[in-house]
Amino acid sequence: MKPALLETACALYSQETKTNPFNTWLIVENEDVRHRAFELIKTPVLQTRITTIKTLAHTILKEQNAGIRIIPPEEQYLLFSALAKKIFDKKSAETKTITENLIDLYITLTLNCAECPADTDKGQKAAELFSAYRAWCRENNAVDAISALAYAVPLAEQMQADTVICFCLKSTTKQAEKLLSAFTKNPISFQNEPEPTAETIVLSYKTVREELEQTCEKICRMQENGIPPEDILLLTPALQTTLPLLEEVAAGFRVNKTTPLTFKTPERKSIANIPAVRAVLALVSAGINAEETDLQIILDCPHFRIKRRGITAGKLRKAVRITGSTDWRNLQTDDDETLKTVLAEILDTAETRQKNAETLRERITALRQDLQDLGWTESPMTPAGHAARTAFFSLLDRLAAAKAAEKKCPNYEFLQILTRGCRKNAGIPYPENETAFKIAKIRSAAGTKTPHVFIIGLTAKSIPNISATLPLLTVQETKTLLPDRYRKSAEETAYYFSSAAAAAEKTCTLSYAKTDTGKTNSPSPYLTRISEAEDAEIQELQHSIPGSQKTAGYAIAKCQNLPEAFGIQSAERTAERIRTAEPVPAFSEERFSALYRETKTVSPTFLETYAECPFAWYLKHHLRLEQTDAASSEALRLGNVMHNVLETYFTRHDRITPETKDAAYRELAELISAEMERAGIKTPSWKAKTLQYLDGTKSTLAGFIEQELAFAEQGYTTDASWVEQEVEADLDGISIKGRADRVLRKEDGTFFVLDYKTGNVKENAETALQLPLYSEAVRQMIGGTPAVGQYFQIAPNSVGISTPFENGAEEMIAYAKQRAKEICEAIQSGYCKPNADCKNRYCPFKRVCRKTEGGEDD
Ligand code: SF4
Repeated sequence: MKPALLETACALYSQETKTNPFNTWLIVENEDVRHRAFELIKTPVLQTRITTIKTLAHTILKEQNAGIRIIPPEEQYLLFSALAKKIFDKKSAETKTITENLIDLYITLTLNCAECPADTDKGQKAAELFSAYRAWCRENNAVDAISALAYAVPLAEQMQADTVICFCLKSTTKQAEKLLSAFTKNPISFQNEPEPTAETIVLSYKTVREELEQTCEKICRMQENGIPPEDILLLTPALQTTLPLLEEVAAGFRVNKTTPLTFKTPERKSIANIPAVRAVLALVSAGINAEETDLQIILDCPHFRIKRRGITAGKLRKAVRITGSTDWRNLQTDDDETLKTVLAEILDTAETRQKNAETLRERITALRQDLQDLGWTESPMTPAGHAARTAFFSLLDRLAAAKAAEKKCPNYEFLQILTRGCRKNAGIPYPENETAFKIAKIRSAAGTKTPHVFIIGLTAKSIPNISATLPLLTVQETKTLLPDRYRKSAEETAYYFSSAAAAAEKTCTLSYAKTDTGKTNSPSPYLTRISEAEDAEIQELQHSIPGSQKTAGYAIAKCQNLPEAFGIQSAERTAERIRTAEPVPAFSEERFSALYRETKTVSPTFLETYAECPFAWYLKHHLRLEQTDAASSEALRLGNVMHNVLETYFTRHDRITPETKDAAYRELAELISAEMERAGIKTPSWKAKTLQYLDGTKSTLAGFIEQELAFAEQGYTTDASWVEQEVEADLDGISIKGRADRVLRKEDGTFFVLDYKTGNVKENAETALQLPLYSEAVRQMIGGTPAVGQYFQIAPNSVGISTPFENGAEEMIAYAKQRAKEICEAIQSGYCKPNADCKNRYCPFKRVCRKTEGGEDD
């Protein structure tokens, strides 16, 4: 038996092509393996001869001049959508989901040469739709990519290839088998018999992020130890969900301190979230339902040539806050006329041409002209933006070329089609460089060999992951149609898993995460069959940006030259300062006094940071070290989302009462969903957070409304002008400036300041300066009697108000004023030592902190 290795199959292919290049074929199972074959063969005479069965069908149709047009997936969707509306008689929103399910069912049936069961109403309608679709294809001499397999069978018989090397074809469908046997009577088959040879370890991590971070750290170390990136393979059963998180995690890692860690994969990144494309989708949406569209995205887009006349996204946001309206043409603000003119121009552009368009093709032409006029077509963009623009235009080309594009298409459907196309069919490659290792689906490793293999995400729910039903069908219907589907899928999964593990030549690391977005995971049975997972030994992330801060921190502490460090924006300046400065202690009174003597206006956050830890203040406000952990975390974005939601709501409403409770619930739920969606984060943890905010009687939203009812019951209301309001106070020579989240007031003049927290709240009154100083500021601005300030925690799993102050408001304010004065003096004196009693496990500067090295006197 021949060794089942891709190298061997490729060597045979190369050998045969020397004498018969046109009629030697290498057929592999999927695009991943095809790409690897290209890498091994390097210069194949004819690229089409290295193929999957699906692309083989296309090549046959093309080369035999069948005259059949292969329709792209976008066109297939348009046809299915039109037929579904006619046959299923549903509203468009439901038709969208039905259409996706019908396409999935059609593909499965076609691949398995099976007919749709027509003994139920739903089945009959599906069968009717499939038959109408096939009739359309016949009339128009067109096929989709899957039906092409059947059309290619008679032509394949005529072609009869000389040499066909089939490499590890395991999950071939009936239709694929028919095509193969028509194409060749004597295939040379390579079948893989997985034989694990590498040293294998089975690990468990606490979370999915930890699993990815630790794997990235290991990969960086391997590369620095001379292992080339192509010798490292990362496999996962859930590639689509892993890629966005990996992209986020890997961005923080560097190999040899300078080169970002990247990966390569045949999967493509959807363009829907690339800012330049998001702005175009917002433009189309503005022409349909302007009030529901966030025009800030358009104002923010530097690629649109709009006469902005000083109107920025921030100004628009302020106008919305003040007026509580998104009636863009009639916003009443100080900036009235200019703002209205700018918004009217945007809306006119979005609406005018589309008003006269009726068919999909006309809408596409109108959009192209708008984009041309707005300068988007030619505007200089980043490489990713440029690639996304090219992908967007080819999506438009494919849609415009579809026959169904001649049909009438309402504008809301146009937006739906574009959004779906950007999400599903138009993609750009992930950026890569010389450190790019490979990541792929588990099944792509069958029969291949790579020295070092990591297989991550091996939880019970991801592998095996076999649904008992086909889309739209019941378990029974699925069983009748494909009786051995479950068994076959289970066998295939087991085969691919063992093949993936056997693909490792030297080391094989298998792992799973015990929790994923708060839910407990159990290990896959395939994993436990190998061995019980051990708790992974957690390595320090030396190759991540936070890791590098540690080294820099030692140097700062010892007043030495900074080593080459990354992730610290001011590293160069800091190093320069240390090099050129007189050899004085880092925290010389003289230097600080000179710098901060003139500092008269400060924010409460500036003072709070110092109150908590003078050394953290020094790193954050003086050296301006980048806080990578915080900057990249979803937590930061969650804070923005909730502030936006509550700002919008309380500029429209002054309270929530029992009468308005239900309406408030609906409105806030919509605002939260929209803002979470707008954040553009597609990770599972983000989805889970959205659910925790919205789902059920124990949700954060339900708890939030209960608390708001209590405020209203006490007689508090919120004036729109006291939402996210800038406040200022004079504290005997020190000026305090900041923005208060919300001020609630009673008719008798009592008020209190509320601060939203989506994470932890402060529990120590000595370091909580924001609430009392804002309270003083509000008193100085509008008078009234302050009550004790409150934190309103609105976290995904916790909601409620709290305050760290035990005494009354006057004591709270007096203490804070005194502390503010002391802190300013201490800063001027250059006192910046670490906090000796620090228990802060989450300090972003933990790695830099001198305290961890040798205490405060170090
Ligand atoms: S770890 Fe503690 S002492 Fe060190 S900088 Fe952070 S807060 Fe200050």
